[in-house]
Amino acid sequence: MDGRAGPTHWIRADIRELDAYPVPAAAESVKLDAMENPYPWPGSLPPALVREWQRRLSRLHLNRYPDPAAPALVAALRRYMEVPPDMAVVLGNGSDELIQLLLMAVAGPDRRVLAAAPGFSMYAMISRFVGLPCVQVPLRAGDFALDTEAMLAAIERERPAAVLLAYPNNPTGNLFGRREVERILERAPGLVVIDEAYYPFARASFMDRLGRYPNLLILRTVSKLGLAGLRLGVLVGGEEWLAEIDKIRLPYNVNSLTQATAAFALEHAAALDAQAARIRDARDGLQAALAQRESLRVWPSAGNFLLLRCPAGRATALHRALVGSGVLVKNLDGSHPLLRDCLRVTVGTAEENGRFLAALDRALAGA
Ligand SMILES: *Cc1c(COP(=O)(O)O)cnc(C)c1O
Repeated sequence: MDGRAGPTHWIRADIRELDAYPVPAAAESVKLDAMENPYPWPGSLPPALVREWQRRLSRLHLNRYPDPAAPALVAALRRYMEVPPDMAVVLGNGSDELIQLLLMAVAGPDRRVLAAAPGFSMYAMISRFVGLPCVQVPLRAGDFALDTEAMLAAIERERPAAVLLAYPNNPTGNLFGRREVERILERAPGLVVIDEAYYPFARASFMDRLGRYPNLLILRTVSKLGLAGLRLGVLVGGEEWLAEIDKIRLPYNVNSLTQATAAFALEHAAALDAQAARIRDARDGLQAALAQRESLRVWPSAGNFLLLRCPAGRATALHRALVGSGVLVKNLDGSHPLLRDCLRVTVGTAEENGRFLAALDRALAGA
């Protein structure tokens, strides 16, 4: 044509081979596929608080760039997340962006990252975007515990620039053994990132270990707490690491509306904490209900979701039937050998969980 080459020439082959991250349409559905908090924010707040929040937003100067250091928000997050005073904090546009930043900061020829599998899909995806091979070590079949010997052997062999572990793990819901994680912290030559996205439900943390392991970084987010739409993640760790990672953060990555809203929400964090407590209770109830279905297996979970195994060969048909009944869950069958026949369901309100169970029972009886 005009002598210029198109995307098949210029776009990297490893990007062209990727599938776009699938986000199903959710209109009218009971949305139990993305670990969101089911209680609307601000809609679940008392009307006087909603007005106070709106007044706060109306005083912003959106003609100006946001404050790149967000000092008020950082102070509120430090208090709420009990960040040790000698540790540094970097904010991201969701913790996904922080994973991207820290992997960009360590990427290079002959560099690798290590993750346990099945794990959070973004680890492998972002590794790929930044050109880092992601070595995945299988969890133990049955209980999804860390295979510590295999992890330590892989650490010796690969010398990974970063080890990424979700605590509790997504999609399996379990907390890895503390001692096992500490053995990895002791032996890893590079960073160990503990992703505590589900802290509001698990209330278990390595925050108190930051001083002890200089290669430990901790990731938190407000997404699972109930503010997924804000896009705010928090990376915590030693200043010597975070000062470097902060250099590649785009200066205005956390916008003014997010900064003001998150600071306001943390002033009223008791409301979010109370919702997390209700979700934990609902999770335990839903787990017990699923355990009564003899054809299913359900695993215990420290998160706001449950992993369940369907009768052999039926997960995809059951998933389709659930979607047809207006209930979105995640089909994990085919995503990893250990997740054969598995679905993952986010814990919703009592009413949503009831609709999910009813639709699941109809689908199970249907074939
Ligand atoms: C949901 C999830 C996140 C995503 O967090 P954002 O802050 O919304 O980007 C990070 N890590 C794990 C393990 C998750 O499940």
